[in-house]
Amino acid sequence: MQLKILSGNEAIAYGALEAGLHVATGYPGTPSSEVLGTLARLAPEYGFYAEWSTNEKVALEVAAGAALSGARALVTMKQVGLNVAADALMTLAYLGVVGGLVLVVADDPGPHSSQNEQDTRLFGRFAKVPVLDPATPREAKAMTVFAFDLAERLQLPVILRPTTRVSHVCQEMDVCPAYRPRPVEGFRQDPRWVCMPSLAAQRHVWLNTVQEQVAALLGESPFNFATVAGEAGIIACGVSFNYIREALRLLGQEVSVLKIGTPYPLPEKPVVDFLRRMKRVLVVEELEPVVEDQVVAMAWRHGLRLSIAGKRDGTVPREGEFDVDRVAPIVAAFLGVPYRQIPKTLPPPLPRRGPVLCAGCPHRASFYIFKEAAQGMDVVFTGDIGCYTLGLAPPLEAVHTCLCMGAGIGMAAGIHRVNPGKKCVAFIGDSTFFHAGLPGLINAVYNRAEIVVVVLDNRTTAMTGHQPHPGTGRTATGGETAVVDIASLARACGVTYVREVDPFDTDTALVTASEALRHSGPAVVVMKSPCTKLVKPITRYRVVTERCVGCEECIRKVGCPAFLPGAEGPVIGSDCTGCGLCAAVCPADAIERVTE
Ligand code: SF4
Ligand code: SF4
Repeated sequence: MQLKILSGNEAIAYGALEAGLHVATGYPGTPSSEVLGTLARLAPEYGFYAEWSTNEKVALEVAAGAALSGARALVTMKQVGLNVAADALMTLAYLGVVGGLVLVVADDPGPHSSQNEQDTRLFGRFAKVPVLDPATPREAKAMTVFAFDLAERLQLPVILRPTTRVSHVCQEMDVCPAYRPRPVEGFRQDPRWVCMPSLAAQRHVWLNTVQEQVAALLGESPFNFATVAGEAGIIACGVSFNYIREALRLLGQEVSVLKIGTPYPLPEKPVVDFLRRMKRVLVVEELEPVVEDQVVAMAWRHGLRLSIAGKRDGTVPREGEFDVDRVAPIVAAFLGVPYRQIPKTLPPPLPRRGPVLCAGCPHRASFYIFKEAAQGMDVVFTGDIGCYTLGLAPPLEAVHTCLCMGAGIGMAAGIHRVNPGKKCVAFIGDSTFFHAGLPGLINAVYNRAEIVVVVLDNRTTAMTGHQPHPGTGRTATGGETAVVDIASLARACGVTYVREVDPFDTDTALVTASEALRHSGPAVVVMKSPCTKLVKPITRYRVVTERCVGCEECIRKVGCPAFLPGAEGPVIGSDCTGCGLCAAVCPADAIERVTE
């Protein structure tokens, strides 16, 4: 045993190692990314397989293939990634598994870095697969080991659902570095693996019947426990349990608490035992009333007369991330005790700074070039998920829509259909192109959509922590691999106008962008330049005050955060990476390379 301080995501990875996993797959997405990042780091040393897959559905399919062969497999994604994997999951629950299959789906209440706040526990209920909701990193590790055993015992995939706080906080814990995978039986043919409609009808009955067994097994787990101290009680799920404990300490109150770590299916025995001893309860959980609705149903089924407060009566909010400050007044009101917010000593407020592309980001140049080339044209710019959503910020303002991974291409085609006078330009990142962009591009070719697809290729998956993808020539574990070339792929799809250009070669890039905008039929421009965080800056630029005419074109057109206001005009700060875009824009030749 070793004592380590691990984040929740690292703890899950070590839990999977302890459980003897054979295969780990995933697609990066905050707050989940470090689970597979850690496993990819450990894989060469311990000898299991880890990959970044092209999207979450593929990741689940790879894991499912391994699990049908008797291997233990872990899949990682964020909550919106489960929408992509849902098609595979819904049927995999019918098929079942042989080896343990665990989906780590990290939820993002807040949301801090997501396009919505969806609650994965509802997906678990929809797919009828068990969901485990850890309260702490230590529990996340224990639950991972438990989840593999449970999945094998039930022959059902299991979802582990950490939330941002659990994924990213750190805790000390025992880690057993021993890796003892069992031998894998190998794939055996079974008619059960072909989900024909007649089989699906039978398996649906099995899936429904097994739910009670699942709940019973979860009821025996150590992740639900109660402390009883009076007839007013609180039921808290996942990370909310910590906030409740802290709130009760602040309020100086001792009340009954039932901690729930297995929200779906909610085990009946511990809950009903708790309810029988209460006159009234408050259910506290982030996002949807998943536990609360099951508690209400259990109370009704057992004819228990008690009041249940929570989200349904408006006592507990249904949106956003909780913390002690949000939870404490709710608990105080429920208990009828006074609560006075303790004034905190806050650090001085930071200057307000909107989300912007990094100083020197090559794709600030890409947005700028397409805006310049589109001057005088009626253009809609559809955006996508990733760093490039930041293209919406002033002064670029080149992202008019953003829906979900890969959607920019399809949306551009849809907008063009009903606005034939408009030119539609879809910006998409390289990783996103492989994830979900390709089907949209094929659709555009097939249906002759008059759109321009601009792949902002920065040679990495930048926003989630620089994970490799099929265009980088590197695997998750750092090995060399084939490079899937985006331009060749676009040509193979039937796009007749395909160009690759360096966005910092502004003259060539402008000519290319103008041609693409005037091309009839779908056009693809791959703007290729590495993420500024991957290349060491070799120089800087500075404003020569004597030549500066104060037009502020550099600020109004480029918007690089390295620019600072100065008494005698703009100055360039130490963030400058020397990309030279501002120098290309300056009409007075007042920005020059620093030569030391
Ligand atoms: S674009 Fe050039 S001249 Fe205009 S404000 Fe910036 S540095 Fe000065
Ligand atoms: S050269 Fe100009 S645009 Fe590029 S990073 Fe430096 S200040 Fe920003």
